[in-house]
Amino acid sequence: MISPILPTYNRAPLSFVSGEGSWLVEADGRRFLDLGSGIAVNVLGHAHPALTAALTAQAGQLWHTSNLYHIPQQEALADKLVAATFADTCFFTNSGTESCELAVKMARKYWTAKDQPERSVILAFTGSFHGRSSAGIAAAGSEKMTAGFGPLLPGFRHLPFGDHEALTEAMKAPDVAAIILEPVQGEGGIVPVPDQCLKGLRDACDATGTLLILDEVQCGMGRTGKLFAHEWAGITPDIMMVAKGIGGGFPLGALLATEEAAQGMTAGTHGSTYGGNPLACAVGNAVMEIVADDAFLAEVNRKAGLMRQALEGLVAAHPDVFEAVRGAGLMLGLKCKVPNADVLQAAYGQDLCVVPAADNVLRLLPALNIEDADIREAVARLDRAAASLVPA
Ligand SMILES: *Cc1c(COP(=O)(O)O)cnc(C)c1O
Repeated sequence: MISPILPTYNRAPLSFVSGEGSWLVEADGRRFLDLGSGIAVNVLGHAHPALTAALTAQAGQLWHTSNLYHIPQQEALADKLVAATFADTCFFTNSGTESCELAVKMARKYWTAKDQPERSVILAFTGSFHGRSSAGIAAAGSEKMTAGFGPLLPGFRHLPFGDHEALTEAMKAPDVAAIILEPVQGEGGIVPVPDQCLKGLRDACDATGTLLILDEVQCGMGRTGKLFAHEWAGITPDIMMVAKGIGGGFPLGALLATEEAAQGMTAGTHGSTYGGNPLACAVGNAVMEIVADDAFLAEVNRKAGLMRQALEGLVAAHPDVFEAVRGAGLMLGLKCKVPNADVLQAAYGQDLCVVPAADNVLRLLPALNIEDADIREAVARLDRAAASLVPA
């Protein structure tokens, strides 16, 4: 008999009743060190006092009014994002996949506004992930997500990740509107796009007018040690998807764009009932106030160095279990030699939460403010987990 919850997830037999910083607590008091952060969402850990205060203060005042009216909390958050990024304008959503929907709509509307509606194709890379909506699965294109859901939304063309020749060829097609990619693939197994490639892609887009859409839903909001990952390459996108970390655990997403890219999106062309409501934006403002700060990001980089070094030691100590560490900042992946599901189970056995990804990788996505001691403790637990897997 089907469960009351649609059974689309294989859930671990764990359930948490409270959280504090980088720790999650079960009803019986068992404490787990959380290196998953609800999949890169809880950027400031659990129950951060500033976020709790922002949410509860707003909850006592006004929850929701709709976008029929001005929302001061939304305007304040948009001002912060515009000030801190390439963007001139923002639309708030409730999730990453909704940001993907708008990115695709905006790119197509742009070319319609420029009297070239035939430019409607979105180029995307294999191994990418852009959410579970019809546009999101069509963009990612992987059989695992699209099987049985056809007919798929047309107008997407997929390129093998890392194949420069295929990319150069595809960019020449006269019907290309935009290209979408994650600067660091998350679900695909923590695969960073080299800075040189992002620069080359920006140049190629400039040469043809093609819009560059970056999906920073997972790698953005300080995760790599810059507010947004593309900053490392010294380039800017035309359109950027944000979600996950921006709400610190409250459902919130955003689509950021230049004025040029957004030119087709006039009144009535898009909307959302909940998107950017006072509750969500109150929390988003509190997150931005802490994360979009040079001193905070410097700390993320320091912690990332500490964690990376400890993980290199872990890999060296367990060459039968791990192959390599990869990633950027506090978006790290352990490429496994044994099935990552086995390492995941062993980690649970050490009261440690990590997240599996494709390519037999385990993702480590700690809170960006994780304590140094918790980094050391997490690596010690991974060490015990790995030791439990190989017969002595
Ligand atoms: C999680 C994720 C999404 C989808 O976000 P949802 O909030 O789950 O809809 C899109 N793109 C990337 C890169 C993601 O990691």
